[in-house]
Amino acid sequence: MAENNASTENRFYSKCGGCNEDIRDKYLLQALGKLWHVYCLRCCDCRETLDEGTCFFRDGDILCQIDFFRRYGKACSICHEGISPQQSVRKVKDKVYHITCFSCVSCKRQLSTGDLFYMLEDGRSKNKWVSVQDIISSYFVLIE
Ligand SMILES: [Zn+2]
Ligand SMILES: [Zn+2]
Ligand SMILES: [Zn+2]
Repeated sequence: MAENNASTENRFYSKCGGCNEDIRDKYLLQALGKLWHVYCLRCCDCRETLDEGTCFFRDGDILCQIDFFRRYGKACSICHEGISPQQSVRKVKDKVYHITCFSCVSCKRQLSTGDLFYMLEDGRSKNKWVSVQDIISSYFVLIE
């Protein structure tokens, strides 16, 4: 009487969502409803390897968080780069800026809460900010 031992050699291996080969590795990743070789789950843009918690999927591409927000996130109104959730931002009216971008075009000082600043519009959707001190010193003359 033949024993019905399922051989581990012939067991069914899952296919990798990236290279479509069998996954025989001890470690595998589960993401986007598929299983992956650890080295196959990579960002389309920077080619970094990802893990389950850090991958994003959109328009057929797998992306790391940084590239996902660079492509699809809100963009900074000064440098036009996407803003990722870890980056500090400053919101003014309906626009967002990287904290590091939000500086005076004249003296380069970073503008912060409580500062008075003036927005120069040069008509190319690129915003520039000037601190009020610089405006005053360029428009007003102190009579001595
Ligand atoms: Zn693979
Ligand atoms: Zn990336
Ligand atoms: Zn920026």
